[in-house]
Amino acid sequence: MKDSLHILPLNKWIINDDKPLIIAGPCSAESEEQVLFTAKEIAKNPQIKVFRAGVWKPRTRPKMFEGMGSEALLWLKRVKEETSLLTAVEVANPRHIEECLKNNIDIIWIGARTTVNPFSVQELAEALKGVDIPVMIKNPVQPDLQLWIGVIERIYQAGINKIIAIHRGFQPFYKNIYRNEPLWDIPIELKRQFPQLPIICDPSHIAGNTNLIAQISQTALDLEMNGLMIETHYNPQIAITDAKQQLLPSELDTILQKLVLRNNQNNQSIADYTLEQLRAEIDKCDKDLLISLAKRMKIVDEIGKYKKEHNVTILQIQRWKQMLEERLQFSNNIGLDTEFLLKLMQLVHDEAIQRQNNIMNSDK
Ligand code: PEP
Ligand code: MN
Repeated sequence: MKDSLHILPLNKWIINDDKPLIIAGPCSAESEEQVLFTAKEIAKNPQIKVFRAGVWKPRTRPKMFEGMGSEALLWLKRVKEETSLLTAVEVANPRHIEECLKNNIDIIWIGARTTVNPFSVQELAEALKGVDIPVMIKNPVQPDLQLWIGVIERIYQAGINKIIAIHRGFQPFYKNIYRNEPLWDIPIELKRQFPQLPIICDPSHIAGNTNLIAQISQTALDLEMNGLMIETHYNPQIAITDAKQQLLPSELDTILQKLVLRNNQNNQSIADYTLEQLRAEIDKCDKDLLISLAKRMKIVDEIGKYKKEHNVTILQIQRWKQMLEERLQFSNNIGLDTEFLLKLMQLVHDEAIQRQNNIMNSDK
């Protein structure tokens, strides 16, 4: 059902310009004072339209703080009455939806741990039939675009046309600087397949700390994402959940102020010659890269045949370690990022093993 989804653009229901939609608020609603104080600070910035707060928290281990539950919805009701902000809450089951509707919550979102489960998502979709409420859908914990698309489709089929995808990064396989790796190509591919679908970025859960939030937010906007959801707390140090990644409202203001909103090329009437030229160079580089890869894989196949004839194992860990070290050294010298090089080499090596495996186990 590629791009047959008629999803309402943000400027038809929540923003009246083409500026990014900004959502802010604490990871969890902890107390009435925390919620109201944080919301009132946030509301001073007119760029921020929506106040988020987790009321039911999905936790990895039992006995951890699981959110204040329905009681907190009353605090959010006060936020709505006493500020200009709309309110948004995470829901994970039909009872949560019912409670949110009863308490006039404006927007609900489905969290990363729920989007992984089609049974849960289908139950949410059933509960949403006949209801007009915007739904934001976080990507699943693991980098599975089809699963993310499936949730969007299930919610759309329930009759919801105000849908926003939230990119919150993906659980990393190897420890790295991000709590959740951005893997930008996944939201980009989502956008390619569903150009009408608004996508916002949640840099807080990608970063896992406050240092990287500005930079991730800028990248998201440069990739034409439609907004940001950023965790904000009046006193992050005492936050019960995600303390390390929450910003003060004043810190959020500074970050928002510094964000550069660039032109969308489609809106420019005169083609930018320099950009076109650079793009042509990129096309040429990519072609060379692919030719080089194809050549490398042919050699890999030759080695595979040799190993088969001489009964040698595919993986020789010493050789792999030595190769990696050499490539790392080389790439550092020519200005390539270590993490990137590691991922690239891993991908190339996996493909080589796959090919040799096919050769070794074929009858020929
Ligand atoms: C959250 O937004 O606080 C949250 C639980 O996020 P995620 O579902 O992305 O882990
Ligand atoms: Mn959180």
